[in-house]
Amino acid sequence: NTVLESVDIERLKEIDRKHFFHPTSLVKQHKEGPSMIFTEGNGIYVKDAYGKEYIDGVSTLWNVNVGYGREELAEAAKQQMTKLAYGSSFYNFSHEPVIHLSEKLASLTPGDLNVFFYTSGGSEANDSAIKLARHYYKLKGKPEKTKVISFQGGYHGITIGTTGATGIQEYKDMTTSNPPNFFHAKPHLLNCEKGDKTDPDYSESIRGIIEREGADTVAAVILETVVGVGGVLVPPEGYLKAVRELCDKHDILMITDEVICGFGRTGTMFGVENWDVVPDMMSLAKGITSGYIQLGAVAFKESIRDEIIDLSGDNFFFHGFTYSGHPTACAVALKNIEIIENEELVGNTKRLESVMMKGLKYLEENHKVTARSRGIGLMGGIELLADRDLGKEFDSSANAAVTVVDECIKRNVILRALTFGGKNIVPLAPPLIINEQQLETIFEVLSESITAFE
Ligand code: PLP
Repeated sequence: NTVLESVDIERLKEIDRKHFFHPTSLVKQHKEGPSMIFTEGNGIYVKDAYGKEYIDGVSTLWNVNVGYGREELAEAAKQQMTKLAYGSSFYNFSHEPVIHLSEKLASLTPGDLNVFFYTSGGSEANDSAIKLARHYYKLKGKPEKTKVISFQGGYHGITIGTTGATGIQEYKDMTTSNPPNFFHAKPHLLNCEKGDKTDPDYSESIRGIIEREGADTVAAVILETVVGVGGVLVPPEGYLKAVRELCDKHDILMITDEVICGFGRTGTMFGVENWDVVPDMMSLAKGITSGYIQLGAVAFKESIRDEIIDLSGDNFFFHGFTYSGHPTACAVALKNIEIIENEELVGNTKRLESVMMKGLKYLEENHKVTARSRGIGLMGGIELLADRDLGKEFDSSANAAVTVVDECIKRNVILRALTFGGKNIVPLAPPLIINEQQLETIFEVLSESITAFE
C-alpha cells in the first residue's frame, strides 16, 4: 500500500513543478505543480498518493482495457526482458515475439488485413499509414497522389504529419507551419458521400473534396471508426460502406484509425466490424497492450504488401523506428490479447452497452444542461449545453465540462472534459472489465456532479 507522507507528497509536487513538463496540459497549472500523483492501480480503480481510491471512468487515456494490476502482463514483460530485452527487426532480422504477435493479429483483424508494421504508439502508426499510402502510389507510378482527407474534429496524433490529419484547430495551432495536402471533411455526411449534390454541405464532404481536388491527387482518406477525442461520434448506418465505395471508385486508400476502437472498446474486437467494412489499412495502439507498454501498429492488406514488394525492385524501404516491433512490447501485447479473449471482454463490453446507453439517456432526461448523448459498447459521451432547446453552448467562462469532471473527482470517479471548439463533452470509456453495478456507480456520480454544477 503506497500511502505517502504529506511532506513527501509536497516534495514530489515541488520536484514535478520544477523539472517536469506535462504533455497536453493547461500551461498555467505548471506553476502550481500536479493536482494528483497516482501511485497504484487495481482492476478499474486507481489510487493517489494520499491513498484515495477512484474509479477510472475513461481507462486513463481510453487505453487500459484490461484494467490495472495484471501480474500476467508484468510476468510476460519480465520473461521477455530476461530472455531477449531488445532485438531489432530492421533489415531481414526478426524475433519470436514479433512473429507470434503478427500471426495472432492476422487471425483477429478483418478481411485480408494480414500484414503489420509496428510503432510505439498511435501517432507513429497514423504517420506511418499516411507515408505508406503515398509510398504505395509513388511505386505505382502515381506520385501526384499525395493528398489526405480526414474529418473536421478528428484526432490522429501530434507528430507534425498527424497534426496535419488531426482536424482539431487547437492542436494545429501548436505549430506555425502545418504540413500541406491535408483536407478536412465534415464527419458523417451520409447523403453527400452517397452522391446527393443538393445537400448544402456537399462541398465539405469527402466526396465533394475528392471532386474538387481531383481523385488523381488523393492518396488516402483517414478517419476514426468512432470519433473519440472529437466528442464520441458514432457513424450512421451505411456511412463507412459509402466511404469504402467512394475510395474503391477513385482508387484511394481507406485508412481507419482504430487506436481507441481496437481491442474491444465498441463491443467488437475492431470497430469496423460493427459496420462490416474492411479498410485498406487500420491503425492500432492503446488497447493493443492496454497501456502497459508502448506499442502501435499499422495493419494493411496482403495485396498492398505484395504490390509494394513487386514494385520495389532493389529499392530499400527507408522507414522504421528503433522500437518498431519491440520484443517486450510484442510479448505484452500477446498476453494482453490472451486476457481479452480468455475473459471474454469483448462480450462483456457488448453486454454492457445497454447499461451505458440507459445511463446516458437517464442523464439526458434528468438534467437541464445535458443533451445529445451517444455511445457504442463501452464508449459514451454526453454534451453540456447552456440552452439545449436552442442548442446554445456554454461560454468558456462557465467551465462547464471541467467543473462537472472536477465534481466527479471529488466523488472518487475520474472522468475527462473534452472542450475543443467551444464544446463541453464528457466522455466515458471505463476498462472493459467493469461490471454493471460499477458502471451504474459512474452514472450516479456523474449525475450528482452535473447537479452540483447546475
Ligand atoms: N488516434 C486516435 C483516435 C487517438 O485517440 C490517439 C490518442 O488519443 C491517437 C491516434 C494518438 O495516439 P498516441 O497518443 O499513442 O500517439
